[in-house]
Amino acid sequence: MTEAAKSKGRYFAKFLDALPEDVRAHGNDESFRASKAEYQRFLEFFNKGHCYLCAKPLISFSKKTPCLHWLLKPKGFNKKDFRTVAHRYGFFQIQSFLRWVANQENFAKNINDLTCEGNGVKLFEVTIKYKNLEWAFSCAESDYQGHSTSQHAKHPHYHFQMRIDRRPFINYSDFHIPFSEMDVINIEAMRALPGKIKQRFSFGEGMGDVLSEDTVEHIIKTAVSAGAYDEAHFKIDSIVIAKEGETINGDDLYEIIQEAKEKNVTVASLLNRLPNAQTQVIVSPGPGVVQQAPRSGRKKDT
Ligand SMILES: [Zn+2]
Ligand SMILES: [Zn+2]
Repeated sequence: MTEAAKSKGRYFAKFLDALPEDVRAHGNDESFRASKAEYQRFLEFFNKGHCYLCAKPLISFSKKTPCLHWLLKPKGFNKKDFRTVAHRYGFFQIQSFLRWVANQENFAKNINDLTCEGNGVKLFEVTIKYKNLEWAFSCAESDYQGHSTSQHAKHPHYHFQMRIDRRPFINYSDFHIPFSEMDVINIEAMRALPGKIKQRFSFGEGMGDVLSEDTVEHIIKTAVSAGAYDEAHFKIDSIVIAKEGETINGDDLYEIIQEAKEKNVTVASLLNRLPNAQTQVIVSPGPGVVQQAPRSGRKKDT
């Protein structure tokens, strides 16, 4: 299956690349509309404690009907049942569902998909949290290529971890979960045209979407400093250095800090008015963002 799916993916990338801009934009709009309709259905059911996929209560579990809502740990769901769910739903479908769930508790900060937070060499690395549940996906290049030394892991696969109350329930090393054919097609298309073809998780946006080069300026201007520090989406650090041969007046700085407090804006947003100073602002994920679940201490080939 793999080679055929990979070449389908590359063909798909070529096809998309050759489309006129307006046709491509129209296609994007259409797929956004479809996601929106599906998300509305998800919400309607979820807010009543039901699953939009199987229409059953989120707390129900029946071995006969494997469903993504099992990952919310209804009574009876065991580690080995994950295989059935993963067989039925692809990598992106599982992730999309969990991202929607996570965003019901807190927008974006329960989803850490920042590449700088992981070890940077993974194809995919994301940690998603909802209440006392935490799920993490990990796929390195060697996982995608398949571990050639292992019969049951030679296909393209990813690893999955689930924790309940911070305690291990499923470990990364428990499964080598095969990517579905659709997954491989999508991944291969993204790899063929990096930057141009991206996986979007509409309504399932995480910190990687919220905190990017394009958004930093907006964050500094619009962030408010109120609220509990522990729950913050962002941490904004400012570095102030006097211009060469000049000095910064402490009173000027004090006034800016007071004005920021009064107006409930970030100090960083006003710093450009500080005389004789050069300023640099660093925006990073705040303490309220879920930490990436590291995949470490693993044996070779897992
Ligand atoms: Zn369900
Ligand atoms: Zn592996």
